[in-house]
Amino acid sequence: MEMPIVALVGRPNVGKSTLFNRIASERIAIVEDTPGVTRDRIYTHAEWLGKQFRLIDTGGITLEETTLNQEIKSQAEIAIDEADVLVMVVDARVGVVKEDETVARILYQAKKPVILAVNKADNLEQRQDIYEFYSLGLGEPYPVSGVHGTGMGDLLDQIIKTFPDDQFVDEDPAIRFSFIGRPNVGKSSLVNAILGEQRVIVSNQEGTTRDSIDTSFVDNFGQLYRMIDTAGIRKRGKVYENTEKYSVMRAMQAIDRSDVVVMVLDGAQGIREQDKRVAGLAHEAGRGVIIAVNKWDAVEHKDQKTMQEFTDYIYQEFRYLSYAPIIFVSALKNQRLAKIMELVTAVYENQHRRIQSALLNDLLLKATAIAPAPIVKGKRLKVYYLTQVSVGPPTFVAFVNDVELFHFSYERFIVNQLREMFDFTGTPIKIIARTRK
Ligand code: GDP
Ligand code: GDP
Repeated sequence: MEMPIVALVGRPNVGKSTLFNRIASERIAIVEDTPGVTRDRIYTHAEWLGKQFRLIDTGGITLEETTLNQEIKSQAEIAIDEADVLVMVVDARVGVVKEDETVARILYQAKKPVILAVNKADNLEQRQDIYEFYSLGLGEPYPVSGVHGTGMGDLLDQIIKTFPDDQFVDEDPAIRFSFIGRPNVGKSSLVNAILGEQRVIVSNQEGTTRDSIDTSFVDNFGQLYRMIDTAGIRKRGKVYENTEKYSVMRAMQAIDRSDVVVMVLDGAQGIREQDKRVAGLAHEAGRGVIIAVNKWDAVEHKDQKTMQEFTDYIYQEFRYLSYAPIIFVSALKNQRLAKIMELVTAVYENQHRRIQSALLNDLLLKATAIAPAPIVKGKRLKVYYLTQVSVGPPTFVAFVNDVELFHFSYERFIVNQLREMFDFTGTPIKIIARTRK
């Protein structure tokens, strides 16, 4: 789960986002068609020779009203703070310019591997003419062309060489969870209020290589939790922390490292565009999701119907999160905070629930009785067998006569049947269809 993070750095227009798109491998959406989910284009999943990593395009994190120099400096800083490997991008056609030297000087001081990519080396002549970039003091320049895709293999080989060998040891016995949401919804207040009631065993635990601070604690039943740090909780006071892109990127990192995420909304303000982006990311990542409506104390003129109305409003706005439980809380008044932890635990359990094949086949029989499998182009779908292959999120394989016939609507029907028969509250469910010959 703890994947290395690679950041692309460099002045504007050298081709960072072009390289980003070339390296990015699209994540597989759990739900085929998820309206309202905007794909975030500064943070993505990537893979080379079986090694998985995260890629950040720092160029996407722009500050308004700032000088070019200030902008590239803070982007380099973000890269150093957030990433394990830094890829500095320069332009083969322009050569070394002053801003490249500024970036190089900052990266040079970081005690992290830096790889120099000379982009726009589109032809042989440009690929050979890269020696001037040695002057940046960052070692061997790697010529690439983001547009044509040449040189990418050598660059990626170089990137993954810097990864530690044991990157996937993941035997964490803790339930990892985080609070995500836009600035000022009350994430840090919730964190502090909850930690105030817990026996914190390891506070301010340093993250592995990155600048993150997690907190671990044990509840009265001996269950270990790890609360994953997010932006807005640390409040280090850096200017870029208030930019939307940065906070979305931090939310992505937290989602990545969590089993369950608590999406925090401001009850007094309702749902904003940024809330939708963050919620969409959590859903796409396949994590357990709980929606906490905070500042419920500040909502005026409440009556018996207010909670139900707000609940309807949330499911209306986040249609794809119909499985997520909603809880109304107040960090300020300490209301229902214990319930948050109960839900985190329950959702984690649901996410790790294993269903025996015998029960799944009962379900299949029942499902077929309710609604016969659809006929597509004169051929009827047959689901022979359903079996669970993994947890976190629960993933099932359906063996069918022809995968082409297994449409999304039927998949959704099976998922609904699963939810009716078993408790999968808070967790997405994944179904993979396979043709059985
Ligand atoms: P960023 O500002 O660093 O993210 O740069 P972009 O990725 O937006 O690219 C800036 C411009 O350079 C765009 O017009 C790209 O099409 C162009 N560009 C990017 N990579 C290459 C390349 O490999 N060769 C050439 N010729 N142009 C490129
Ligand atoms: P974050 O940026 O999401 O971490 O938000 P903070 O925890 O810093 O809270 C932002 C503001 O909302 C602060 O002024 C808090 O005092 C206030 N706040 C947080 N939780 C509540 C709550 O439950 N009720 C009310 N009325 N205010 C709250």
